[in-house]
Amino acid sequence: MASEDDFEEPQFFDKDRHLQFLEMMYALLPSHYQTQEINRLTLAYFIIVGFDVLGSLDRIDKDAVIKWVLSLQAHPKNEDELNKGQFYGFHGSRSSQFQSNVEGVSVPNGSHLASTYCALAILKTVGYDLSLIDSTPILESMKNLQQSDGSFMPIHSGAETDLRFLFCAVSICFMLGNWSGMDREKAKEYIISCQSYDGGFGLIPGSESHGGATYCAVASLRLMGFIEDDLLSKITSPCIIDVPMLVDWSLQRQAGDGGFQGRPNKPTDTCYAFWVGGVLKILGAHKFIDENGLRRFLLTCQSQYGGFSKFPGQLPDLYHSYYGFCAFSLLDEPGLHPVSVELGMTDIATVGLSL
Ligand SMILES: [Zn+2]
Repeated sequence: MASEDDFEEPQFFDKDRHLQFLEMMYALLPSHYQTQEINRLTLAYFIIVGFDVLGSLDRIDKDAVIKWVLSLQAHPKNEDELNKGQFYGFHGSRSSQFQSNVEGVSVPNGSHLASTYCALAILKTVGYDLSLIDSTPILESMKNLQQSDGSFMPIHSGAETDLRFLFCAVSICFMLGNWSGMDREKAKEYIISCQSYDGGFGLIPGSESHGGATYCAVASLRLMGFIEDDLLSKITSPCIIDVPMLVDWSLQRQAGDGGFQGRPNKPTDTCYAFWVGGVLKILGAHKFIDENGLRRFLLTCQSQYGGFSKFPGQLPDLYHSYYGFCAFSLLDEPGLHPVSVELGMTDIATVGLSL
């Protein structure tokens, strides 16, 4: 007879179930993702790079993926159009490729910085040669998104500007191997102005420190070459950011249950094991993490159906599953590919890109 113990969650990283979960998502997204149809490229990024982190990229049809992603790139009709201030990156999905204006006429919709980042990361992951991309319109038009303070809008028609979109722009330039799409000095100044009195970074200057914003800040500075890796070991040399305070703030985000929180007094959540754990990795302070505690916490968020949830015992979602896989990669889980923290993909996918 089955005992109660048979139904307990496994106490190990259950790679086979995670692969089943990703395969299910790859074949057909569950209906509750329908409202996120506009973010299809982002969801595809979690699935495809997720397969790569799990060392199982052979399970997807790479040619089909390349064809689909390339079909979402926006192209200006001519030089004139390129200079009108629109952003020519990638659309989030087919349905966002066109939108109707007030007269009911279909007009090209603005593409989005986050979709463009995801598109390039997917293409690089499946081995597409990014030098084949028509990158001039992307880089030329991306300049229009940078504000005078150095921050970035995600779309040409105006929206919030903060560190998330600056990170996307930095990653895009890095992956394309061309910095003409942005003013790096201004971007650097903006990032520095986002470091808070407690050492963490807020999404905009003067805002509360946040794990995700702190990741965007540190990863961007590293990709732009303004900080070295393993900064903690070079603490005696002057640095453009306050490293000891930053390390302190980041380490304090690991709570008593072993998980990481995004901000003080918030519950621990799977994704911050990557956002904050990743910052500590870049800074060379990963060794101070309580790894056993973190592993224990993450396993309470591992679903019996595969994937990870935000909080212990909930149903899994793609976002937290992907960052759960990355967190386990940072913990050197056997059988997983090492992750390039700064770029949000695996080390092997970044071959040819130099940090
Ligand atoms: Zn989360």
